[in-house]
Amino acid sequence: MEVQCFTVGAFQVNTYLLRDETTGKCAIVDTGETEELLQCLQALDPVPDVEVILLTHGHLDHAGALPSLQRFFNATTYLPRLEQPLFNTLPEQGDWFGAAHMNRPCGRIDKLVDDGDRIKVGSSTLTFISTPGHTPGQGCYYDEHDIFVGDTLFKGSIGRTDLPMGNHALMQESLQRLMTLSGELRVHSGHGPITTLSHELMTNPFLQFLR
Ligand SMILES: [Zn+2]
Repeated sequence: MEVQCFTVGAFQVNTYLLRDETTGKCAIVDTGETEELLQCLQALDPVPDVEVILLTHGHLDHAGALPSLQRFFNATTYLPRLEQPLFNTLPEQGDWFGAAHMNRPCGRIDKLVDDGDRIKVGSSTLTFISTPGHTPGQGCYYDEHDIFVGDTLFKGSIGRTDLPMGNHALMQESLQRLMTLSGELRVHSGHGPITTLSHELMTNPFLQFLR
């Protein structure tokens, strides 16, 4: 699939537009917490035909703008099943950062995904892998070329596990599982630049325990 990245909002989160070349159907991965992504997508010509919205996890910067996107796009929204309790705290997550103006209503979740589930986008298929640790249900979506990892893995770093509901031991297990996927996969993180699984396995100081 064709991948376009939009870095939006106060947390500079990477959101992604995936386009199935055969049918033109699109997926959005994560939303930001402002209307910025919606504005970016509305400015495209043609405006993308968004079939699905995929949330990697329930943090404000990744899921907070879901209602604004749902007002415009008639898309099916997927959330990792184990992430539902954290997702439900969106109306108070701004308070965690001392920023009540960032509290957001929860959008509508249409489908809960479990490890190994497959999701159709036009004629393309994405697979969901559960990688808890940063949050209880954090997960990644991938096809044969690309993986969208949310805050599981960054170029040269990993997601923090010291926020509410984070778990360092689970994170280490998840990273280990992630590294059983093809090293060629291009890694699209929730923050920062693109990388590959094999590059991170070789160079990322937080993955030293796997080398
Ligand atoms: Zn996060």
